[in-house]
Amino acid sequence: MKLVLVGPPGCGKGTQAVLIRDEYKIPQISTGDILRAAVRDGSALGKKVQDYMNSGQLVPDQLIIDVMSERLAKEDCANGYILDGFPRTLAQAEALDKLLISKKQKLDGVISIEVADDEVVKRLAGRRQCTGCGEGYHVAFKKPAKENVCDKCGSALYQRDDDKEETVRARLSVYRKQTEPLLNYYDKKDLLKRVEGKGNIEEIFKNISSLISEITPQ
Ligand code: AMP
Repeated sequence: MKLVLVGPPGCGKGTQAVLIRDEYKIPQISTGDILRAAVRDGSALGKKVQDYMNSGQLVPDQLIIDVMSERLAKEDCANGYILDGFPRTLAQAEALDKLLISKKQKLDGVISIEVADDEVVKRLAGRRQCTGCGEGYHVAFKKPAKENVCDKCGSALYQRDDDKEETVRARLSVYRKQTEPLLNYYDKKDLLKRVEGKGNIEEIFKNISSLISEITPQ
């Protein structure tokens, strides 16, 4: 099963991709995770992408296409995968199509998780992370017992640069302009399935699973 998960930042894409990975036993490939690891390692790729990431802009298509061509050639992708955060532009979608054609493969489905902008801002701009152990918090939905202090290890909490409200708004505007046109692209290929991203994680996963059950893998 080869699936693509699309949705605005903060729609719960990463969480759902992990649930899909576990249920369908296919690797979850997140370009955001790959790039964040490269930045953490201080690799050549990391150095090239960090400014784009911190300002909420997309990194150049060719960099991502090269990263993904390499990743999708790995053995664990032989039986399928769930792509989380790729493709994000028409150029990336076309490059993925070409790559699949060269392997005589096809995508089985594209799931779009739909959430309104104001809900995204509320979710993301309220997120906090522990500087010590990395535990996640939220100023409205998961408050620590003492403001700005981690319940687990007592370290201070911080806000990721790309979760600052102005950056979240920039990421949303990038999504609406550059990524949303993909929905039409995949709809024309009869691959698109839409799911409401509001509600609890289990409920959304149930709806996604029922959409996946309608797909016959190629
Ligand atoms: P994410 O965790 O998926 O929201 O990705 C975090 C950041 O990584 C994005 O804001 C972009 O700067 C970059 N990024 C991730 N995936 C892509 C992609 N497919 N194309 C371009 N930039 C990407």
